[in-house]
Amino acid sequence: MGIPISQMWTVSTYVLKQKFIKRNKHYPLVLMLEPLFRCNLSCAGCGKIQYPGHILKRQLSVDECVQAVEECGAPIVSIPGGEPLLHPDMPKIVEELVKRRKYIYLCTNAILLEKKIEEYKPSKYLTFSIHMDGLEEEHDEAVCRDGIYKKAIAGIKVALDKGFRVTTNTTLFLGAKPDRTRMFFDEMTKLGVEGMMLSPGYSYSKAPDQESFLQRKETYKLFREIFHSPNKSWKFNHSPLFLEFLAGHRHYECTPWGNPTYNIFGWQKPCYLLQKGYTKTFKELIDETNWDEYGQKSNNPECANCMVHSGHEATTVDHTFGTLGGFLGTVRATFLGPKIPKPESQKIPSVSGGK
Ligand code: SF4
Repeated sequence: MGIPISQMWTVSTYVLKQKFIKRNKHYPLVLMLEPLFRCNLSCAGCGKIQYPGHILKRQLSVDECVQAVEECGAPIVSIPGGEPLLHPDMPKIVEELVKRRKYIYLCTNAILLEKKIEEYKPSKYLTFSIHMDGLEEEHDEAVCRDGIYKKAIAGIKVALDKGFRVTTNTTLFLGAKPDRTRMFFDEMTKLGVEGMMLSPGYSYSKAPDQESFLQRKETYKLFREIFHSPNKSWKFNHSPLFLEFLAGHRHYECTPWGNPTYNIFGWQKPCYLLQKGYTKTFKELIDETNWDEYGQKSNNPECANCMVHSGHEATTVDHTFGTLGGFLGTVRATFLGPKIPKPESQKIPSVSGGK
C-alpha cells in the first residue's frame, strides 16, 4: 500500500476513537476543501467549472479554510477545485493546515507546479496529488488540451526531486482500455510516485460529455480487467478493500458524511458530487441531511451507478476498523493482494458494509 505508517496510525486511532469512544456514526474522514472553482483547463468530464464568471472569481480566504478544517475535525484534507494552485494564498493555507497536523492532498493538474513549487516546503503532511487520466494520448484527450501530460510529468519529477510526497489521481471513463491503464500504472511506478488513486468518473449532469460515464457493471468489468495479475510493484493510495469494491468482489454502501465538502457556498449537501443545498455549519450538515435518501440502497437514481472514491472509501475504512471481518480482510489483502474476480466473472457482490 502507498500510504506512510504515520498517516495510517493517525487515521486508525482517529477512527477507533470516533467509533468506540465517541460512538459517533457520522464522523468525517476526509474533508473535501474546495477553495475555488476556477481552473486553467476545461475537461469534458468536469462538473465544477461551468459556473458563471462572478462565481469563478470567488475564493475562500485563508481564515475560512482554517475554520472549516477545525470545525470538521477530519484528519485528512483533500484540496481539489478548480485548480488550487491558482489560489494566491494556497501556500499560506497549506502552511496553516500543516501546523495543525492535517494530512493534505493538494490536487493539481500540475500546469503551474514547476513555477510555484518553491512556495511550498516538503512535509510528511503535504502530498501533491497529480491529476493524470492515463498515458499521453488518453490524458491529453481527457483534459481537452495537447501537451498537458508532458507538463504533468515534468511537475511530478520536480516535486519528487525536491523531496515532496507525490501521488497520482486518475478518473476512468467508459472506453478506458485496460491494457493502456496497466501501462500507465507501470509508467507512474517507474517515475517513483508514492501511490496511485483511482475512481470511476461520476455522471455530473453539468459535464459537457454525458456519453462517457460508466454504469456499475461496466465499472466491475473494467477494474477486473485492469487488476487481473497485477504488477506487484504497483502501489495504490487506497484501502485494498476499496480496490475489491471497484472490481465487484464486495459491495459497500456510500457513506457521504465520510468526505464532507466545504466551498464558497458553505457545507454542501450531501456529498462532493450532488448539490442539494448548503448549510452554514458542519453540525447542521450532519444533523439536517437525510442520509437515507442517498447511496445505492436508497434507489436514488443519482446514486445508482456511483462508485466514486469520495463516497465509498470512508465506508471501507470504517469496515476495516469496525468489524473483525473487515480488519482480517484488510490484513489479507494488504499482504496477499486484493481479491479480484476473473474478467469473465458475472459475480454481483453482496453488501459488506455501510449504512
Ligand atoms: S452514492 Fe455518490 S452521488 Fe450518491 S451520495 Fe454517495 S457519493 Fe454522492
